[in-house]
Amino acid sequence: MSRPVQVLDNILGAVGQTPLVRLDKIAEANALKCNLLGKTEFMSAGGSVKDRIAKAMVEAAEKEGKLIPGKSVVIEPTSGNTGIGLAMACAIKGYSVIITMPNKMSLEKEALLRALGAEVVRTPSEAAWDSPESHIGVAQRLRREIPHGIILDQYRNVNNPLAHELTTGPEIIAAVVSTPSTSEKPSSGKIDAFIAGAGTGGTITGISRAIKKIHNSQCTVVGLDPIGSILAVPESLNKDGNGEQYIVEGIGYDFVPDVLNRGDVDVWLKTADEESFAAAQQLMKQEGLLVGGSSGTALAGALRWLKTEQGQKIANEPGKNVVVLLPDGIRNYMSKPWFLDIAMEAKPSNLANTITQILGKQ
Ligand code: PMP
Repeated sequence: MSRPVQVLDNILGAVGQTPLVRLDKIAEANALKCNLLGKTEFMSAGGSVKDRIAKAMVEAAEKEGKLIPGKSVVIEPTSGNTGIGLAMACAIKGYSVIITMPNKMSLEKEALLRALGAEVVRTPSEAAWDSPESHIGVAQRLRREIPHGIILDQYRNVNNPLAHELTTGPEIIAAVVSTPSTSEKPSSGKIDAFIAGAGTGGTITGISRAIKKIHNSQCTVVGLDPIGSILAVPESLNKDGNGEQYIVEGIGYDFVPDVLNRGDVDVWLKTADEESFAAAQQLMKQEGLLVGGSSGTALAGALRWLKTEQGQKIANEPGKNVVVLLPDGIRNYMSKPWFLDIAMEAKPSNLANTITQILGKQ
């Protein structure tokens, strides 16, 4: 599936339809014989995988007559990307937006939201999800107090996983199926493993359903959950570091959202910030992909799983296809210390050093 070439009515026509890209250098560095493929969701109009659900939830609410242009106030608790998608859709359609977002989320996301015309209310990151101070609690209070306030509720809205079952999943399937197998780049024509992190869980649930229902019921779906979160199964995986704060944004929670069907995930792995950021750096430096932190989580988890006994059966077979979901881009995190550490790490102090460094690389 290619990106649209016609004149679009508005930018919502450029939501999704993101390229699936070979990660050959990383595969080679890790001695993988299978194909390692990245679904580049940062290529979507609003810069993330969450544009799709924002568009789907707004369009569904419109169909149900729940939104009135010029009157409705769309309120949503989010780690930022759903908010950006909603603010983009609502800017076009004429609804006001208020986003509630934990303090830990980046300044870049808040600035983008404000630029799109949304109001942003920050909440304490450590507040329990069901406390009145959390981003969810504050959104509920705003809805109670604001006439025409509505929460589309990505944690419970069926259009969240459905958007992925109907768009992201089929796009990945179409790309893999339509890419020919050659002697240089053999392909089974099937998705053999799919790996993604979970926040609301809509992405992994919806894509797993699409792949297993219409493409390959034998595909292994691997879910990633940061240390400190409680989404992984079995529960014993979540004991270490339960409640610990982690820096990576957009994945992990202290409750299991309704839209996450953990039965659609075959294997869970817990991930640490350091491996996520190191893998994001690899994606940038080796593959030229401008990805955010949770994309690093997805790659780090994929590489770790491919080293397990189950993963090795796929890793060692030429032509097997392993798809890693890359949810958003680094431009959401430019001011974060973890990114500046990566980017400025090897910064030479003067021109002579620059030349010496470049010559050293040749
Ligand atoms: N990564 C980032 C950067 C995100 O914003 C999100 C959405 N919270 C996710 C991953 C996880 O997506 P989902 O909510 O569909 O599980």
